[in-house]
Amino acid sequence: MPKCEICGKNVKEVFKCKECGAKFCKNDGNVDALLCRYCEEEMQEMIREEREVMDDIQEIEQETD
Ligand SMILES: [Zn+2]
Ligand SMILES: [Zn+2]
Repeated sequence: MPKCEICGKNVKEVFKCKECGAKFCKNDGNVDALLCRYCEEEMQEMIREEREVMDDIQEIEQETD
């Protein structure tokens, strides 16, 4: 049985993270996006930061209006 590199358990099926290459079970990541839980968290963090930057730009545009 393959071993999940995230939780360390032997599981029926593992998926390979497209970001870091870690093999993870379905409980430890997004199997549709092929991201382990750590990379998924990082992605969500990046999306959040991008939104904050977008908000800043909108504020600046409003001020110069
Ligand atoms: Zn796991
Ligand atoms: Zn990963």
